[in-house]
Amino acid sequence: MTYVRRETFLPFTRPVIGPEEIEEMIDSINSGWITTGPKSAKFEEELALYNGVKHCLAMNSATTAQEIMLQVLGLQSGDEVITTAMTWVSTLSTVVLQGGVPVLADIDPKTLNIDPTRIEEMITPRTRGIIPVHLTGLPAPMEAIWQIAAKHGLWVIEDAAQAMGAHYTGKKIGSDPRSIMSVYSFHPNKNMTTGEGGAIALHEDRFVDRIKRLRFHGIEKDAWKRFAKDGSPHTEVMEPGRKANFMDLQASLGLHQIKRLDGFNARRGELFHRYLELLRDIDGLMLPWAGDPIHGHCFHLFVLRIRPEILGMDRDTFVQALKDENIGTGIHYRPAHIHAFYRDYYANHPHALPEDGLPHSEWSGERLMSIPLWPGLTEEDQDQVVATIKQVIAKR
Ligand SMILES: *Cc1c(COP(=O)(O)O)cnc(C)c1O
Repeated sequence: MTYVRRETFLPFTRPVIGPEEIEEMIDSINSGWITTGPKSAKFEEELALYNGVKHCLAMNSATTAQEIMLQVLGLQSGDEVITTAMTWVSTLSTVVLQGGVPVLADIDPKTLNIDPTRIEEMITPRTRGIIPVHLTGLPAPMEAIWQIAAKHGLWVIEDAAQAMGAHYTGKKIGSDPRSIMSVYSFHPNKNMTTGEGGAIALHEDRFVDRIKRLRFHGIEKDAWKRFAKDGSPHTEVMEPGRKANFMDLQASLGLHQIKRLDGFNARRGELFHRYLELLRDIDGLMLPWAGDPIHGHCFHLFVLRIRPEILGMDRDTFVQALKDENIGTGIHYRPAHIHAFYRDYYANHPHALPEDGLPHSEWSGERLMSIPLWPGLTEEDQDQVVATIKQVIAKR
């Protein structure tokens, strides 16, 4: 393909929202009921059904869902949770906000997910749980993680924010009862969206009432029902709670997005494999692993790593050169421990990092970038991304 510069900027992702979603939102607006109500309850049922879990509890974001999960599990000040630096910072920040200590284990450079062989050395008497992240939509090695957790009496929470629709040994990601809870995100960049939004998936009944009240002012029972004709006008506050409820406007998007999710993910998979073909012969690029066929990647991101020594430029220069040619990229992620707050934090909590540091997280973190991938991306767009990458490399 001869190179022709794109006229308009191509973002690295964008949500795909159709007329059904829009009509459903208009229906909510016209009904006079736009916040938490029957559509939110229906959406939670659909989510639980889709994921094969007993309960899915929706709220304003996956980040709030993470905070509430840790509170419900009784994380105490000084308790340690083992996770990965290669994640969105909320995985760590929610632990810190709850008074806990996020202890980091390095990644497997092949997958960018936590390396289970590096977990046990980080366990101390204060360790309470493990939070694996299914980065890019590629399932983390759960079998090994569950074994370690069982051996040491730890809980597992799956950060499945990027992984709605992925599978692990035949089950939907986040649905195995060996994980006490899992969290999904419906941020616009994720594989399905409700604008903003997130959900907790769990099998056990005993946490449900507490989670429901913590997401809405600490009020007992579904408070929105008090506005209905047969509802009680009284509320009872049982403890201080958040204002983190999910809106029917969000559910209007979600009820249709969830029906389209498998189709979205299948298209993402086609585009992902097409990138692998088109970029295969370019020296200086390391392409992502497409995943173990017995598990199901949901192709949230196409994260490639560049080899600066071959390309003669660093990642940030490469990203800027693509941007100058109207190709957007993302960085998922700079490892969490190198952000300003966490540099100080880990200097003060040296035992929360491995003795040899996180060399694989840092190595990949300097080289990685996400190129455009979403279900509405056309093959023409994709050809242009590839041609631009080749052009930037040829012009260096
Ligand atoms: C997006 C994301 C989150 C946070 O989700 P929000 O709904 O935006 O709060 C948490 N963890 C990971 C890995 C994510 O990608």
